[in-house]
Amino acid sequence: MLLWRIGANVIPTRVNLQRKMQHIDPACTFCNNEVESSTHLFLECPFARALWAVAGWGIRFDTAALTSGEDLLKLIINPPDAPIPANEQWTVTLNMALIMDEIWNSRNRKLFKQEQADLIKAKHCVQARFQEISKVFTPTSPPIQRSCSTFWSPPPPDYIKINLDAALNSSKSALAVVARNHLGKVLFVWGKENQLCSPLQAEAMTLLWAVHLAIQNRWYSVMFEGDSKICFDTLNHPDQTPNWSIDTVICNIHSFSSCFSSCSFGLVRRNSNSVANVAARFALNCLQPFCFSEGILPPAIEAACKEDPLFVFHLGWRVFHSKLNIAEPHKRTPVNNLRTNTQKWEMMIEI
Ligand SMILES: [Zn+2]
Repeated sequence: MLLWRIGANVIPTRVNLQRKMQHIDPACTFCNNEVESSTHLFLECPFARALWAVAGWGIRFDTAALTSGEDLLKLIINPPDAPIPANEQWTVTLNMALIMDEIWNSRNRKLFKQEQADLIKAKHCVQARFQEISKVFTPTSPPIQRSCSTFWSPPPPDYIKINLDAALNSSKSALAVVARNHLGKVLFVWGKENQLCSPLQAEAMTLLWAVHLAIQNRWYSVMFEGDSKICFDTLNHPDQTPNWSIDTVICNIHSFSSCFSSCSFGLVRRNSNSVANVAARFALNCLQPFCFSEGILPPAIEAACKEDPLFVFHLGWRVFHSKLNIAEPHKRTPVNNLRTNTQKWEMMIEI
């Protein structure tokens, strides 16, 4: 309805009102420096520009070429191409429409309720409404996860599960990301050093890095897991105001998450995130960034990897065999494999 009123130039901006009632001051409600036309209010005013900058996904368009409400409407209906899959382009129109709506609501609150325009609040409002509406039209929904898993479990077929964690010492932080498939196979373990920051900032930066890595690897159905309650709670409740120190990072994660056909952010306990935890501590002591895959894992990370599937299968065997009342099979000790891989890894380091 708002878009139609803008396109038909019947939206009651102060310029339009002044045409009918000459005593009305046409100055912009926000900046008071320009006349309040549709193009100024929704595109050129400093408040509008700021909201587009923080909530507009970095999409750029030539405002000089837009001179009327009709031009604005055409821009929303045929937005510039965004770096996301073609079947997701409709979300650009949705996001742009929500930004325009929020500008209009903020303008009305300032004009009629004397509420100061609040950029952060406006941005969160756009994001919350975007999440709410886009979920309704998203064809596949992520698999249901327990709110806080006790043990690591493989993702469903066609999904990649990505565990992540950060570690800190007195001079720096380190980030680690672990990707595994539905068989529990380790696809990659990444790690790198990072500047000294708070634990919360390090966790948020690790999560953003994990999202980038998943996009680079063209994984479209991804389950992200970590043990940072604040990060994951903020992502799963976009109506909540994030901690200021991770606000921009969380905003970027929200934006990039639209690149996936299905993704979820699951909070887990530390013992089901142990591989990422070990990898982060390993990264803290490693001089170079690393990317390991199965077969060439450092011993500490390999041992942690083996714990997860072994533990799941071990529990499975116990349940199965207790029903049949037969002896539980001996758990195979991975010593030989560990030695072999230790040697491979040591050889790689020497090279
Ligand atoms: Zn203005």
